[in-house]
Amino acid sequence: MTTYAKAATAPQRGFSGSLQRSESAAKSLFFGEILEDNLFPYPVIPEADQATLRAICDAIDGFLAGKASDFKRWDVDGEQPGEFIQSLRDMGLFGLIIPEQYGGLGLSNAGYARVLAQTSRYDSSVSLTIGAHSSIGLKGLLLFGSDAQKQHYLPKLATGELIAAFCLTESGSGSDAASIRSKATRNPDNSWSLDGEKIWITNGGIAGFYTVFARTDTDAGKMTAFIVHADDAGVSHGPHEDKMGIRSSNTCTVSFENVRLPADRVLGEVGKGFKVAMSILNNGRTGLGGGAVGGMRKLIELSSAQALERKQFGRAIAEFGMVRKKIAQMQVDCFAAESAVWMVAFYIDSGCEDYSTEAAITKVFASEAIQRTSHEALQIAAGNGFMKAYPYEKITRDSRILSIFEGTNEILRLYIALSGLKDLGDSLKEMKLAISDIFNNPIKGFGVLSGYAGRRLSGATGIGQDRISQSLPNALKPAALIYERYTNELAAASDAALRKYGKGIAEQQYALERIGNVTIDLFVGLCTLARAAMLTSSADSNADMARTIAQLFAKQAKRRMSRQLRQLSFNEDAATDTLCSSVLEQGKSVFDVLNNH
Ligand SMILES: Cc1cc2nc3c(=O)[nH]c(=O)nc-3n(C[C@H](O)[C@H](O)[C@H](O)COP(=O)(O)OP(=O)(O)OC[C@H]3O[C@@H](n4cnc5c(N)ncnc54)[C@H](O)[C@@H]3O)c2cc1C
Repeated sequence: MTTYAKAATAPQRGFSGSLQRSESAAKSLFFGEILEDNLFPYPVIPEADQATLRAICDAIDGFLAGKASDFKRWDVDGEQPGEFIQSLRDMGLFGLIIPEQYGGLGLSNAGYARVLAQTSRYDSSVSLTIGAHSSIGLKGLLLFGSDAQKQHYLPKLATGELIAAFCLTESGSGSDAASIRSKATRNPDNSWSLDGEKIWITNGGIAGFYTVFARTDTDAGKMTAFIVHADDAGVSHGPHEDKMGIRSSNTCTVSFENVRLPADRVLGEVGKGFKVAMSILNNGRTGLGGGAVGGMRKLIELSSAQALERKQFGRAIAEFGMVRKKIAQMQVDCFAAESAVWMVAFYIDSGCEDYSTEAAITKVFASEAIQRTSHEALQIAAGNGFMKAYPYEKITRDSRILSIFEGTNEILRLYIALSGLKDLGDSLKEMKLAISDIFNNPIKGFGVLSGYAGRRLSGATGIGQDRISQSLPNALKPAALIYERYTNELAAASDAALRKYGKGIAEQQYALERIGNVTIDLFVGLCTLARAAMLTSSADSNADMARTIAQLFAKQAKRRMSRQLRQLSFNEDAATDTLCSSVLEQGKSVFDVLNNH
């Protein structure tokens, strides 16, 4: 397990509190452990930082609130006008995460995610223009850039004189990012020649600074990250893509034809580009999560007003149970997503290095939560919801992308399950070695064995386990007991899956999806619980509501987790698989009442 180290770019502002434990909270669940110290108490944003963030959010409100009709028009046109992008520059929104020494605002991950939540209340494309620049376009420079590279580029990126884009995807390489074909060849003078084409690049047509990934096939590794300028000879971009949603966010192809890059354009180490790409995506996920939460908050406001104002059968539709249930669920989803996103932001801001599983969880949960929320908000508005004159259909279209880009939710579910199973598997392997080691090196051998055996014993008996329920307010104890129980069940199920499939577990997607889903519910649920406990102990005026949300989430999660775990053993997977093969073979649904079959 990794230890926390101070991040390369220490944030100027962040949550107060510090992490006590070095392990990943999500991966520890696979061992039957709830890392209480990493989850409780829920972190809070220090007052001084709250004041800064409020000022930024107020300025955003002042600037974007009156632009609803512009956003609608730009959605039709599929383009943000240059003057609008200039206003984003003038407001400093391209410098959010760039340290103050380079002219940026130096926001922490927590602060940055909160700002994107604010812009997403108005228009997702605005969030994306800013977000693709910060979360992925320039993040590689912040994480891996040399001092000289930072000095050179960050001041221009902070003002937005240079807008940044992240160029990984190609026509033959989407989820399988390691299979890119763009190629960079080293020249005798140590410069590089880059050839290739990237597709669907956000900000591709307005960026001056590209983080580009290309094959280099050296002994050090297959892929390298490069800094490329839009005005380097041989760089060009295609026209705007015509998209379903986030239509005014700039998306296009970016091509590189024999682009000559000096040696100092390598970002990070030669051959380590895949690590650079994955680190950027992991670190950037709270931006996407923050945006989703902002959208949900807006939808809750719209739906509440609509439910109270719209009358049918002589009553406000807010009186009808099926409408009430939708609104309550929106609040559960929003609070849960928010609790998890800002917990992960806290991990990143604290210099934690092992947060990729938690970041993937928040991306999956928040992206699906906003899609559920927009679906239900549109349903409450019904006919109005379907009309372009109202905001619902645009938010529904805009939020659809969130489960596709920055890692599809399928790939991330696999990642969540496999990253936890890997650590557990390594432990099992260690245990095997330890058993043979007992004869050669008894002290070391028994040491490893007792660590793992201890975990297994506490999992089986409950003795010595972290009992988070003991330190929580009474109203939250039943929820805590659910997480304690299902953490044990996840550990037992993971252990059983590893024993059954061994390395072959990587191909067992039906099982991995279930294990991933249980992990998502556990981690998000624990974040929700921690936040409700924090609000209770600070006697927050809405603590009652937070406890109700935490209790509801836990009960819903319990039902979901119980089903997922049961289905690991009792399922229709074989029939599902056979049916899929038949459909693929026929290439269509063969049934048609017209032919009486
Ligand atoms: C609007 C927009 C903006 C984008 N911006 C950028 C950007 O700025 N920079 C950039 O580099 N890229 C960008 N992308 C690309 C985006 O990241 C990819 O679309 C995404 O990674 C998925 O790749 P794909 O579309 O090729 O799908 P594929 O990889 O072809 O996947 C198709 C389907 O198969 C599933 N699948 C694939 N492999 C597996 C597997 N092993 N197990 C289970 N299921 C699997 C996927 O989950 C998906 O459902 C953008 C895309 C869009 C649409």
